[in-house]
Amino acid sequence: MTNAPLAALIGTPVGHSLSPAIHRAGFEAAGVDWAYVAFDVAPGRAADAIAAMRLLGIAGLSVTMPHKADAAAAVDRLEPAARALQSVNTVSWDGDQLVGSSTDGAGFIAALDEAAVEITGARVAVIGAGGAARSVIDALARAGATDITVLNRTPERAESASSLTPVASVGIVSDISRADIVINATSVGMGVDPERVSEADLPCDPSLLSADQVVVDLVYHPLQTGWLLRAGDIGARTVDGLGMLIHQAALQQERWLGKRPDASVMRIAAEAELASR
Ligand code: NAP
Repeated sequence: MTNAPLAALIGTPVGHSLSPAIHRAGFEAAGVDWAYVAFDVAPGRAADAIAAMRLLGIAGLSVTMPHKADAAAAVDRLEPAARALQSVNTVSWDGDQLVGSSTDGAGFIAALDEAAVEITGARVAVIGAGGAARSVIDALARAGATDITVLNRTPERAESASSLTPVASVGIVSDISRADIVINATSVGMGVDPERVSEADLPCDPSLLSADQVVVDLVYHPLQTGWLLRAGDIGARTVDGLGMLIHQAALQQERWLGKRPDASVMRIAAEAELASR
């Protein structure tokens, strides 16, 4: 019988999640004997899963779709980004209280820092207005971006996402060409062979992009999306979506363990897992 602390992912579906591979590698590198499992939790049951966390003494939770908003309502306290977004991807203990955090945005900023991308004063175009886009917009504003334009297929969602911060507004297509940093925060391109992309698999026309821009795709499967490849061909600097995924996980472990794990070990584990699929 082992007394290893347990951390777990709740979401649905979770079968293809990279989180178990990433977290297990992080725990091993940190030299701690923690276990990590994925629980498929039906929509609407996040509060029950968090009650089970209290009952069973589960040491940490990762929360993914569709439970992020319900988890925000079920914890005792929210960190600032989680409060602004009303969305939680991490649950940790502070004494006998459960704290909800949203580490996606800070993970995104850490990935840009790692790639030496300057955010302070940057003009940013965000394509997409779902949960990932909202995290990124909130974090970019906190990190000092001064002009964020949001473009989305459904305009009402662009309006809602841009209302998160005074430095964001609903954008038009020409804003993409004027931006220093262009981000795909839609799911367009996900799971599409980069050599076989059609126009419908690209979040925007690549001819809008230029060599002096940083082009970021939050999609990480495939790692090099067709859109990123086109941006690279034009001469733009490109950043893939895996850095954000790794750093949001490292920030989760920091909350659970009280120390930041080695993100490079986590990335190697994620790349190996992706390559095996
Ligand atoms: P979401 O909340 O469901 O939002 C999806 C977004 O994609 C919306 O803006 C949606 O537009 C747009 N979209 C979907 N299909 C489209 C299409 N055919 N044409 C134009 N726009 C389309 O999802 P999410 O959680 O924000 O995730 C978005 C992407 O980010 C996913 O690929 C996810 O894997 C990735 N992601 C990556 C990380 C990371 O760590 N790298 C973290 C989170 C998410 P409408 O509003 O018009 O529907």
